[in-house]
Amino acid sequence: MVTTRRTDVLSPEQRRRCMSKVRSKNSALELEVRRALWGRGLRYRIGHGLPGRPDLVFVRQRLAVFVDSCFWHWCPKHGTLPKTRADFWRAKLLRNRKRDEEVNEMLRGEHGYRVLRIWEHDVHADLALVIDRIYGEICRRARHKVD
Ligand SMILES: [Zn+2]
Repeated sequence: MVTTRRTDVLSPEQRRRCMSKVRSKNSALELEVRRALWGRGLRYRIGHGLPGRPDLVFVRQRLAVFVDSCFWHWCPKHGTLPKTRADFWRAKLLRNRKRDEEVNEMLRGEHGYRVLRIWEHDVHADLALVIDRIYGEICRRARHKVD
């Protein structure tokens, strides 16, 4: 895949600030989910060499879970375009969305995984419900596991 990258869109300082802010926020989000899963006695792997490096991988149940930030994955409810460099951001976020779809396809296809994507706003709204959903998927899969 050929990607063209515009390097001058943000100054290095702007980019660093932007990325570090998003990254720490996003990992805090994942941590919240991971902690809650541990509280329920659920164990998982991270990434596990799979496409898109899923945030949670339940290997035996063939379940990959992503916790998607509303900004970076362009949530239909809260996805926004920064006012400056709107064209750049639109292209970038569209690319992210496309990559998510490609990752889903790879996981479902060649890897035989089920994919669950959870929005950041779902975690904020009701973490317990999110954990229930993950738990439900695990149980559903466990009934007809192949390994
Ligand atoms: Zn959202």
